[in-house]
Amino acid sequence: MARPLIADIDLDALRHNYCLARDLALNSQSLAVIKADAYGHGAIACARALADLAPAFGVACIEEAIALRQGGIEAPIVLLEGFFEAEELSSIDTLGLWTTVHSEWQLDALLTYSPRRPIATWLKVDSGMHRLGFSPQQAEQAWARLMAAPERVTDVHLMSHFATADALNSSYFRRQVAVLDTLAARLGAPTCLANSPATLAWPEAHGAWNRPGVMLYGSDPLEGANDASRRLAPVMTLRSEIIAVRELAEGEPVGYAGRWRAPRDSRIGVVACGYGDGYDRHARDGTPVLVDGIRAPLAGKVSMDMMTVDITDLPEADIGSSVVLWGSGPRGGRLPVDEVARYCDTISYTLLTGVLPRVPRRYHGGPVGTKSPDTPNH
Ligand SMILES: *Cc1c(COP(=O)(O)O)cnc(C)c1O
Repeated sequence: MARPLIADIDLDALRHNYCLARDLALNSQSLAVIKADAYGHGAIACARALADLAPAFGVACIEEAIALRQGGIEAPIVLLEGFFEAEELSSIDTLGLWTTVHSEWQLDALLTYSPRRPIATWLKVDSGMHRLGFSPQQAEQAWARLMAAPERVTDVHLMSHFATADALNSSYFRRQVAVLDTLAARLGAPTCLANSPATLAWPEAHGAWNRPGVMLYGSDPLEGANDASRRLAPVMTLRSEIIAVRELAEGEPVGYAGRWRAPRDSRIGVVACGYGDGYDRHARDGTPVLVDGIRAPLAGKVSMDMMTVDITDLPEADIGSSVVLWGSGPRGGRLPVDEVARYCDTISYTLLTGVLPRVPRRYHGGPVGTKSPDTPNH
């Protein structure tokens, strides 16, 4: 039998989460952010599954957009960081992509390029993230230059990104909204601000467009869940099986460096999943997995191809028992990727995007009549 590790991707859950984002913001259009291979879920499969729902998609670079066009995705695709060199403008033009401009050099390049059709352009404003974008003062001039070039650019929006939208009572967040609102009012400009946490928790930040990302995959980006985020459904279930069982006497160590020592006579299940699959090696002892639907703690360092869990309290567990590393378990049980991330001192984004190509993706659900791309290795 093949190695049992699989990433099951529930496209119905993806559609459910997208509809939640959309319905929380009925006066906004919701762009589905599918950069980084749809946060590890497979960009083409996810875009096809959302094709009848999402009016546009967001990616980080032109290579990701080209792959989507080659996969048959025809909707507008926004380059969230714009182009990295001016040569990309001809592909942006021919592929009908939308661009962002965050820097003076990009603006110059855009305004000297003669496209076949004007290019939809989002002007990125630095409202407080201090990473990309024009300062509010610079943005006024940039806006005027864009407005003066209707043969080159169209559908110009102001765009900005939040630093602290996940903290539910952040005054810094309010300041960022105020900066952009003031500018937008002065220029009469439509806006695009909200990421997942702002989509879920900050209606005042909803603009002409929203940009939900991680919530589409069922991860809750808020510091504390709210009514909306509790309705998110996990999309990826990373599942494997126990491939060997060890009986250990009290005091015996497990795995590299013997980090975990049996505090009592113990049974250890060896699971086919390791950091060579993208499971985080920083996972602490005690990180939960679901064994036949019941929580069991990680015991010992994660190795490249395997990990070890303490199944002493699960006498039924044995070789072949199902193991869920995160996602949906049997009988409606769940192990949220956000919870696993906390045990790894990281965030769900790194766990999801970190699942490596060695792990076959297996797709379920999706709109009737669409076909998901063939799963590699299967
Ligand atoms: C990735 C990204 C998003 C989506 O953020 P989430 O926190 O995943 O919702 C939105 N906007 C920009 C500019 C991004 O780069």
